[in-house]
Amino acid sequence: MDGGTTSKRRVGAPGEGESSGKRQNATMGMDALDCPVCFHPLRPPIYQCSVGHFICSSCRPKLVRNKCHLCSAETTFKRCLGIERLMESVTVACSNANYGCAQKLTYYQKEEHEKECPSAPCFCPASSCSFAGPTDALLEHSASQHKWPCTTINYSEDVELCLEPGLHFLRTKDREIFLLNVALEPYGHAISVVCIQPKAINSKFKCRMSYGSFLTNYYQRSVYKIRSSSLSDGLPKGYNLILPKDEIADDGKGTLLTFSIDDPNPEVKVREPICLKPVRSV
Ligand SMILES: [Zn+2]
Ligand SMILES: [Zn+2]
Ligand SMILES: [Zn+2]
Ligand SMILES: [Zn+2]
Repeated sequence: MDGGTTSKRRVGAPGEGESSGKRQNATMGMDALDCPVCFHPLRPPIYQCSVGHFICSSCRPKLVRNKCHLCSAETTFKRCLGIERLMESVTVACSNANYGCAQKLTYYQKEEHEKECPSAPCFCPASSCSFAGPTDALLEHSASQHKWPCTTINYSEDVELCLEPGLHFLRTKDREIFLLNVALEPYGHAISVVCIQPKAINSKFKCRMSYGSFLTNYYQRSVYKIRSSSLSDGLPKGYNLILPKDEIADDGKGTLLTFSIDDPNPEVKVREPICLKPVRSV
């Protein structure tokens, strides 16, 4: 008698929510995966009319009298698990794959990811250079290819920087990168500061710059909000600080600019609770 065991093998397509493990690259018109009302990628939960037209969950409640936007039928929209499964299985590469992002994303997660992608590029400020890459790579490139100096700074601590015309990178311990540009204009030294970030969001940084000379009896100190830029259009136009030509003098220790960046998240000191004792009346 045959005492061997038998095993049942499932034949055919996998059930809903299961993956067959089969993957293949394909080319498709991605707009077929967009909501036909808002044109954003469909993301679960996804609904369909009685005929089968898709709509996203944000647009569905906005339809007047549940009228389908495509066939105009007054209908009851139902979840379509088939298209939801498809949307979960279609993966695309991040647009920053060339800059080192290896993330594979569902089509509907791509846009959100790219807003925060750590590999999004910043651009080399040299006009003749086409280098682009994440901020760490840009910093390495600027040192190796252009020999621009880089100083590591602590928030709220002054550093003294030589007022030489040219670019000077500044890096903080939390890996923020700033670029100080000193330009020699006919009227004097023109100085600008920019925070290098892939997305030009509203910068949270403020810097303090001061310059003084005993010889010319001149002192200037100012606080500036730092702009942010990926440098995709080169160095930002305009300057923060202008030091008039006739006021700059070497006091013997070089012409130095005192520079600091305010801590964007200063520690809030918690005070000891004060215990109030009632005063006894005599
Ligand atoms: Zn929609
Ligand atoms: Zn319809
Ligand atoms: Zn990415
Ligand atoms: Zn370069």
